[in-house]
Amino acid sequence: MNWLKRVMMGRNGADQLNLAILLVGMVLILIGSFFRSTVINFLVLILVLISVFRMFSKNIQARSRENAVFLRIWHRLKNFLYREKLRLQNKKTYKFFGCPGCKKTLRVPKGKGRIYITCPKCGERFESKT
Ligand SMILES: [Zn+2]
Repeated sequence: MNWLKRVMMGRNGADQLNLAILLVGMVLILIGSFFRSTVINFLVLILVLISVFRMFSKNIQARSRENAVFLRIWHRLKNFLYREKLRLQNKKTYKFFGCPGCKKTLRVPKGKGRIYITCPKCGERFESKT
């Protein structure tokens, strides 16, 4: 394995973005096997080439920046999906509002009639029916 260490020395190697690119490629291979599409096969080829390029790239700073951007987007998406999951789970017992002042999502118990809501983030007070 020393030869591999020598080859990879000073190169970017595998990071989270590469892993994501390869996972998307694998999903596309599965989808492509159902549709026998040359467009999908071409996309997979491009993804593999991008992944190999990133893995063997010696410009580690640029690859790290790309990976950081990917991780930021990934975490935002993960948080959004987590919030939507909680929202769906609590749909029957809570009503969700967007604060008119700061757009923060607020939740109040359902069936309380007309109530005044005070935003804990910005202090905006507004009336709503639950
Ligand atoms: Zn607010």
